[in-house]
Amino acid sequence: MLQINLEKAIEQLKKNNFKKILVQIPEGLKTRTDEIALELEKNDFEIITIMDPCFGACDIKIEEAKKLNCDALLHIGHSEFIKTDFPVVYAPLEYKLKNLETFLKKILDYLNENQIKKIGFVTTIQYINYLGEIKDYFNKNSIGVNSKSGEKTIESQVLGCNYSSVPIEENILYFGDGLFHPLGIHFATKKEVIIANPLTLEIKKLDKEKNDFLRKRILLIERAKDVSSYGILVSTKVGQNKIIFARKIKKMLEEKGKSVKIFAMDYISEDKLLGTNVGAYINTACPRLSIDDYSNYKKPMINAFEVKYLLGENYDNYALDMIY
Ligand code: SF4
Repeated sequence: MLQINLEKAIEQLKKNNFKKILVQIPEGLKTRTDEIALELEKNDFEIITIMDPCFGACDIKIEEAKKLNCDALLHIGHSEFIKTDFPVVYAPLEYKLKNLETFLKKILDYLNENQIKKIGFVTTIQYINYLGEIKDYFNKNSIGVNSKSGEKTIESQVLGCNYSSVPIEENILYFGDGLFHPLGIHFATKKEVIIANPLTLEIKKLDKEKNDFLRKRILLIERAKDVSSYGILVSTKVGQNKIIFARKIKKMLEEKGKSVKIFAMDYISEDKLLGTNVGAYINTACPRLSIDDYSNYKKPMINAFEVKYLLGENYDNYALDMIY
């Protein structure tokens, strides 16, 4: 079960004497907006909840907090990712796992059966609270565990746009749910990824999904190759804004005789692009847009790091950037 630990955040807000708080809640938790506001109001804070969509700690609404005359921003669901000139307090989400020890035993059996004696360990912020317990368990059972912090990420934390915490070991154990991060780990580092999903209790090697992913990417890039005009999508979200990169790509494509426009917006969505008339999109914002959500767009959308393949680089060494 997912839990929001507001206690620490409330303590921090009180310690700094912040009274007027702008609260930012990720999309998946919007149904708990009232519950969160009530809990904070009980502690004598004046609450405004910002309802714009939010998916990560790259999206910190400090300008809105300033405009609304708030003392601080309370960002729920994620951990610090960018430095700001305005007070931001984080209340990350945590999974409360039942039967962790039974699942760890299952992972241990899998590692022993596959004669894996050393792993690099990564997870997402929702499971970071179990890091110490997991490392202790494996160390006690003769499995070496390496973990490290990355550039802007805490120990063992991976993000869909940042795999810099992946350790050097050949076998990486990803403790978490979904395929987006394991695929990212593999294509950013070329390492073997073992997925241990504590929600489904499934343990497996990332296998045929790698080929499926690559096939889909190549199809998308090939579709985007055939057009003569591109729209480069830039997000104005504070941690996603890559305008310098967008200008560089524009120049590269124009040198190849393509027509290129840059389209900027806060939250990128198909409806905002309906009036435009380009043949394909190049996304410089969250990589998830073009990986998980590309089918929401009528025109092909590739990620900015894939422009090199558009320009002719061989797919043999297809890779994701370690930090997007
Ligand atoms: S850019 Fe995407 S993957 Fe990176 S932190 Fe933001 S929402 Fe997450």
